[in-house]
Amino acid sequence: MTSQTILHTDGDRLWSSLMELARIGATPKGGVCRLALTDLDRQGRDLFVGWCEQAGLSVRVDEIGNLFARRAGTDPTRAAVAMGSHIDTQPTGGKFDGNYGVLAGLEVIRTLNAHGIDTAAPLEVVAWTNEEGSRFVPVMMGSGVFTGAFTLDHALDARDTEGLCVRDELQAIGYAGSHKAGEVPGGMFAAYFEAHIEQGPILEDRDLPIGVVPGALGQRWYDVVVTGMEAHAGPTPMALRHDAQLAAARIVQQVNAIALAHAPHARGTVGYMQVLPNSRNTIPGTVKFSVDFRALDDTVLQQMHEALSTYCESLVQADSRLKIGIEQVVYFPPCHFAADCIDSVREAARLLELPHMDVVSGAGHDAVYVADVAPTAMIFVPCKDGISHNESEDAKPEHLAMGCDVLLHAVLKHAR
Ligand SMILES: [Zn+2]
Repeated sequence: MTSQTILHTDGDRLWSSLMELARIGATPKGGVCRLALTDLDRQGRDLFVGWCEQAGLSVRVDEIGNLFARRAGTDPTRAAVAMGSHIDTQPTGGKFDGNYGVLAGLEVIRTLNAHGIDTAAPLEVVAWTNEEGSRFVPVMMGSGVFTGAFTLDHALDARDTEGLCVRDELQAIGYAGSHKAGEVPGGMFAAYFEAHIEQGPILEDRDLPIGVVPGALGQRWYDVVVTGMEAHAGPTPMALRHDAQLAAARIVQQVNAIALAHAPHARGTVGYMQVLPNSRNTIPGTVKFSVDFRALDDTVLQQMHEALSTYCESLVQADSRLKIGIEQVVYFPPCHFAADCIDSVREAARLLELPHMDVVSGAGHDAVYVADVAPTAMIFVPCKDGISHNESEDAKPEHLAMGCDVLLHAVLKHAR
């Protein structure tokens, strides 16, 4: 096949749809604020559903408000091949996070329609409810209910800071669907592909348009409390101190070193710290802080955990007045996407002669839940400075078009 005969999506049409959706909830700084289950979310959903209907898709809404837009296949025995992401945003979000994956799916359908191409398997474009989790917790709510990560009632009972619950707000915007969550006509998806901006700096740094995503990092979050001895900063000589802040500073260095020891995929971050009594002439007696460890393998996460514990024990052994408590508060297992789907993404990039590399996802995505129930992979495209969850989030039209082309060919491989 020559490059002229390889099917391409319409990058201009994708871009103009992205820009039109971004007008709903547009912020003065060029971002988008379209929180889940608000009236703006309703307007965004209405626009998307209208586009789907124009493209000849039949739309169903499930009990948690997930939208599924289906294009029939020619073989009634086949399960659907799905594409999607989310269209809710952070309060100071951007135009591309989530929206790209949904509208890239729609663009794949529009391209097939324009060329009169049928697929054996049905195709579905999915918009998952409340991926961001900024108004209602838990995050990735729609995909979490769909895959059984938590119950429908748990999600429907979630309340925002004003006391409004998901159940009532779904009704209010007209998207409390009747289709049973987790059930797909004709059987669970044969494959699911999610295109997304990278939300990190790797692809831009390497000047590559496509990231093939082998999986998502597992996470262990800890609350750490270091207790020493408060004392006057003047009369207490250095050798006779039990400075909780000094121990905490050493642990921060060690968290960084532990992650570096498991490069390139491991991460270690101390993002929150509270110093008590936080007074400039008192030696800190108590320091509370967070540790966020991430890695692609559970064994690595376990090694990181042990390295942190061992280091803290060594500090306590060196200063018997020091106490260090470490409590794990969050655990997400690492997610490995399906080899077959990852290969399809890579093959599509090769077919299109697009430079690519493997990039693991450091963030959570709907695809991570969907991977529990269907063969799944993701496609990353670069975003400016690796920035997302920010009104300045930006991506290049040509990169978005290339990612959409990869999505098209990965989907075609599974649906033909
Ligand atoms: Zn997202």
